[in-house]
Amino acid sequence: MSAERESHNLLDYFGINTFNDTVMQERLPKEIYKRLQATIKKGARLDQDVANAVAHAMKEWAVDRGVTHFTHWFQPMTGLTAEKHDAFLDIDKDGKPIQRFSGNMLIQGEPDASSFPSGGMRSTFEARGYTMWDPSSPAFIMESGNGAILCIPTVFISYNGEALDKKAPLLRSMRAIDKEASRILALFGREGHRVTITLGPEQEYFLVDQKYFEQRPDLIMAGRTLIGAAPPRGQQMEDHYFGSIKERVLDFMQDAEHELYKLGVPAKTRHNEVAPHQFEIAPIFDEANVAADRNQQIMEVLKKVAMRKGLALLLHEKPFAAINGSGKHLNWSMVDGAGHNLLDPGQTPSENLQFLVFLVGVLEGVYNYADLLRAAIASAGNDHRLGANEAPPAVMSVFLGSTLSAILDSIESGSNGAVSEQKIIDLGIANLPRIMQDNTDRNRTSPFAFTGNKFEFRALGSAASISTPATILNGAVATALKAMGDDLEARIKEGASLNEACFSVLKKYIAHNKAVRFEGNGYSEEWLAEAEKRGLPNLKNTPAALEAYTFPKNKKMLTQTGIYSEAEISSRYNTKLERYCNTLGIEYSMLQSLTRTHVLPAAVEYQNTLIQSIEGLQALKDILDDDTVAAQGALLRRVSSEIAALLKANDALHSATEKAEALEDEQEKAHFIAESVIPVMERVRAHCDALEELTPDDLWPLPKYREMLFIM
Ligand code: ADP
Ligand code: MG
Repeated sequence: MSAERESHNLLDYFGINTFNDTVMQERLPKEIYKRLQATIKKGARLDQDVANAVAHAMKEWAVDRGVTHFTHWFQPMTGLTAEKHDAFLDIDKDGKPIQRFSGNMLIQGEPDASSFPSGGMRSTFEARGYTMWDPSSPAFIMESGNGAILCIPTVFISYNGEALDKKAPLLRSMRAIDKEASRILALFGREGHRVTITLGPEQEYFLVDQKYFEQRPDLIMAGRTLIGAAPPRGQQMEDHYFGSIKERVLDFMQDAEHELYKLGVPAKTRHNEVAPHQFEIAPIFDEANVAADRNQQIMEVLKKVAMRKGLALLLHEKPFAAINGSGKHLNWSMVDGAGHNLLDPGQTPSENLQFLVFLVGVLEGVYNYADLLRAAIASAGNDHRLGANEAPPAVMSVFLGSTLSAILDSIESGSNGAVSEQKIIDLGIANLPRIMQDNTDRNRTSPFAFTGNKFEFRALGSAASISTPATILNGAVATALKAMGDDLEARIKEGASLNEACFSVLKKYIAHNKAVRFEGNGYSEEWLAEAEKRGLPNLKNTPAALEAYTFPKNKKMLTQTGIYSEAEISSRYNTKLERYCNTLGIEYSMLQSLTRTHVLPAAVEYQNTLIQSIEGLQALKDILDDDTVAAQGALLRRVSSEIAALLKANDALHSATEKAEALEDEQEKAHFIAESVIPVMERVRAHCDALEELTPDDLWPLPKYREMLFIM
C-alpha cells in the first residue's frame, strides 16, 4: 500500500478503499451490475445469484487490497458504530485453507449483539439482532497498522423486523420524503422523479496533546473537563478563528484527509474554529444515507489519526467551560432525479413557484415539529451549548433572510383572487436568483437558517450521529409536503390553475407557520420573551426535550410516515433517557472522585504549608511588621474556607446522587438529575476552580486549561 502513499496526485488514490460504482462496473458482469443498480433504486431485496456474484467480486477486490476480515458495520442506538470481525478464512473438506465470502454472508449477519440498547424493545429470549446489507452505501476498507478490514454498511434489525439502529429509520424517512416531494414535482409537470435528501455535515472538534489528555481522568472518562479554572486568555483575542493552522495540526489534518480520500470521503474544507485548539472539517455533501455513514467514518478516522500523532481528539460538545463548544452544522436539501436542487430558485416563474412550495414546506415541517427536532438533537453534552451564548438557542426558529421574508410576506398579504403571471413577476419571484445573490446577510444566531440553496440546521452536537436529526427533519417536511400536496390537488380539482392553487396554498401555510420565522438575534433575551409569546417551545434540557417523543401528534407523524412503529418510538425515548442518566452518572461519580483524590489532597497540602509558615512567623512576631501574620492568616482563611466549602458541596453532591440512584423510574431520575444534581455539580466545580487559582502550580495535579488549550 505504500505506492499510493507516494503518489502526489489525489486522483490516484481517491476512493481506492471503497467498493464504489467504478469498481463495480469493472469487476461485475454487466448483467449483474445492472440488476444490482435496479435493486438499489427500488430498495428491493437482492436475488441470490446477484448477491453471490457481488460477494465474490467484493471479496476478490478486498483480498487484492490486503483484507483478511470482513464486518457488517452498523449504527446502534448508541450513536456510534459497531463491528464484529470475521475472517474470510475457512477450511475446505480436504483440510486446506481457503478464503470464502458468499452472498448470504454479504446480505445478512447475525451478530447477536444483545448488549446494545434496545430501549426495552427486545426481551432477552428473542434478543437476537440481524444486520442486513445496505447496498446504497458503498462498502469500504478500513486500514490499520497490521491489516485491513472490509466494512459492509448494514441496517440492524430485530427478529421481528424492528429497527434497532439509526440507519433503517433514516432510509425510511428518505422514502417518505421522496413520495411526497415527487408528487409535488408531478403537479409541476415533472413526473417520475426520485427525490433524495442531500446532507453536508460540518464537523467541529478539539485537539489536545495526548500527554495532557492522559493526566485528565475527567477527559478520559467523561470526554470533557469537569473542573478547570478559566485561563486568563480564552478566545477574546479572536486570533484563532480562521488563523493560520499550526504545523502539527496541519500534519494531522493532511494525514487524516489522506485516509479519508482513500475511503472516497470528499473532505473539502478545513479551518481553525473560534476556540483555541478547535477545528472544523467539512466534506462535500452526499445523499443522506451515505453522508451519515461518511460522517461516522470522518469521526473514526480523525480519532485514529490523532492518536497516531500523539494527539487526543475531543468530539464532546463542551470539553471546556467558558470556551466555545463544538457543534455539527447539518446542511440539508432535496434533489430531484435530474440533479436539480429543489431549494435552488430556478430561471422561470414556474420554477420559482415550485421552489417556494418546497421552501414553505420546510417551514411548515419545522414549525409543526419544532419540539421533536429539539428532542432529536438533545443530549447531555449538547445541553451545555444550546441556549448558552455561543450556540443557537434551544428555541427552534428559522432564518430566511430579508428578501425571502419580504416575498413570503407579500404572498401572505396578497389578494385572494386569481393570480396572474404579472403578479408573480411583481412579487419579484421571476428575479429570485438574482435578488437572492445580493442577499448575503447570514444570521449566525439562528438554529435553522436558509443559506441560499439549502437549510443549515445548526443545533446538532458535535459528537452525535446526524442520522436521527435528519430522520426527524425528513419526516416533518414529508408530512408538511403531504398536506400541501393534498391542498394543491384539491384546488386544482376545483378548477384552479396551478399558479392560483400555489398562491392560495402558499398563502395559507405562510400564515400558519409565520411564528417560526425569526430574523433577529437568537442570542438575545428579547427573543426568548418573544418566542414565548409566539408559543414556541423553549426546552432547556434533555429530559424536558425528550418528552416530545411521547406527544400524540409526534407519534402520529412518525408512524404515518412509516419512520418508526410505536414500539420503536418508545425504544428511542427510553434509550435516550437511559443514555442521559448514564452519562451524568459517569460525570458525577468522576467529579466526586476528582475532588477527593486530586483537588483536596493538593489543597490540604498547601494549607499545611501555610499553617507551618504562619507558626514560624508567629514565633518571630517581635521582629516583623504588625500585619505580616494577619496577612498570611487571611490567605490561610481563604484556602481553608474553600476547602471546607468544597467538602460540604461534595457531601451534598453525594446525597443528591444517592437520591437520584434510588429513583426507579428513568424519566423521574433524568429530571431529578437535570434539576437537582447538576446545580450541585456546578457548586462543587466552583470551589475546585477557586482552589486551582489558590494552590501552587507545582502542587496542582491536573493539566490546566492554559496548558491544554495553548501548548501543542
Ligand atoms: P459554511 O461554513 O459557510 O456554512 P461550509 O463550506 O463550511 O460553509 O459548509 C457547507 C456545507 O454545506 C458543505 O458540506 C457543503 O457540501 C454543504 N452543501 C452545499 N450544498 C448543499 C446541498 N444542496 N445540500 C446539502 N448540503 C450542501
Ligand atoms: Mg456552516
